[in-house]
Amino acid sequence: MKESCEHQADCLKRIQAILDGGASEAEKQHFKDHIDICKPCIDMYHLEKCIKEALQGKVEKKCCPDKIAAAIQAEITK
Ligand SMILES: [Zn+2]
Repeated sequence: MKESCEHQADCLKRIQAILDGGASEAEKQHFKDHIDICKPCIDMYHLEKCIKEALQGKVEKKCCPDKIAAAIQAEITK
């Protein structure tokens, strides 16, 4: 498991595409292979997913750790 990701910007783009439903099958597959080995990207995926769901009102605030709640707050107040 990698502790740092050398192409995190690309990973973030792919994560957002997947969460938006705009990723191709190849991208999804590549992403699945990648998060098996890349810890920061797993964390980023969960954070992005939680923010997105919270913004859509799907998630109760109580499920979110403080870090995520703060990120959601930042997203809303942008
Ligand atoms: Zn990565």
